Amino acid sequence: MADALPPRAEVVIDLDRVRHNVALLAARAPGIDAMAVVKADAYGHGAVPVARAALSAGATWLGSCSLGEALALRSAGITAPILSWLDVAGADLGAAVDAGVDLGVSSVDQLRGLFGARVHLKIDTGLSRNGCPPELWPELVRAALDSDNEVYAIWSHLACADEPGRESVDRQAKRFAAAYEVAVAAGARPRRHLANSAATLNRPDLHFDMVRFGIAMYGLNPLPQPEDLRPVMTFRSSVALTKRIPAGESVSYGQTWTAGRDTNLALVPVGYGDGVPRSLSDRMDVWLAGKRRPIRGRVCMDQIVVDCGDDPVFPGAEVILFGSGERGEPTAREWADTTGTIDYEIVTGMCRPRVVRRYLGADS
Ligand SMILES: *Cc1c(COP(=O)(O)O)cnc(C)c1O
Repeated sequence: MADALPPRAEVVIDLDRVRHNVALLAARAPGIDAMAVVKADAYGHGAVPVARAALSAGATWLGSCSLGEALALRSAGITAPILSWLDVAGADLGAAVDAGVDLGVSSVDQLRGLFGARVHLKIDTGLSRNGCPPELWPELVRAALDSDNEVYAIWSHLACADEPGRESVDRQAKRFAAAYEVAVAAGARPRRHLANSAATLNRPDLHFDMVRFGIAMYGLNPLPQPEDLRPVMTFRSSVALTKRIPAGESVSYGQTWTAGRDTNLALVPVGYGDGVPRSLSDRMDVWLAGKRRPIRGRVCMDQIVVDCGDDPVFPGAEVILFGSGERGEPTAREWADTTGTIDYEIVTGMCRPRVVRRYLGADS
């Protein structure tokens, strides 16, 4: 970590933490398959390195959203089973067969022109999003069984598993059971999978033959109760310039903040062009020189200003924008709570051309 130059803006991805989280999740669902979901470039963490780390720690499947994402994993030499589940109508899914990628199928339409694929039929149990409505399900099952494709599994996705006690989960489970009965009655012997991260952790009765975890693998806990998950991503930068301003001087566009007394400011060269939401203006701290210090004034496209009071700070000092929180620095969750979103969106939004990714633990 003794880099010659401090970073302008980088996300540090600790793959040992991915391994820790995957091992924990796989241990919660023993004896069955464990799918590491690496869609959207592994929630902003980098699909290929995360996939490799997850597979080395006990994941047996990978999940991607688009076929393009799945094929990129194959191009990188990854041979583990992959399920991909959402492409536009008319996409050439034949490439999936050649690459040995399983496909999620939600409609008879999606089966047309598909030969030799291994498919996972998706039943809509309550999201009204992807998935086949129950009234069309018997027809889809029949069409799939009559087609030249292998029906490997049936599956669905939960809407409220991160809110323990919501009756929605049980209602979805009932509909899932009914869909399974229909498939079996039609002569299929499919595997079943339903659980996301939250249900992997809190609904062992819904694990079936495989769990599919995303967010928890990145160390972000979807549940209210604590779990030994370790956040994988740290967003850091360094001080570009320091200055002292007298009381009465204001900071940044709109001059929304005015110093009540003489103070030292640190300029940090990251802004909304680098994934710092402008809505954090005057509302978030950074970790700088051993403590949390407030962002003053508006977040700009390329820079923020941090108030250091009378403490001496120097150009080149490390700045942690968010991290695991173990040192006291802000977390992705804190950013999300402050800006009215979820930590999923914060980390996934860190795919930015100016933000360099650096990996720790790549060779262990
Ligand atoms: C994203 C996704 C998951 C993982 O969800 P998490 O809440 O991140 O664990 C699982 N299954 C499907 C179909 C998904 O789209």
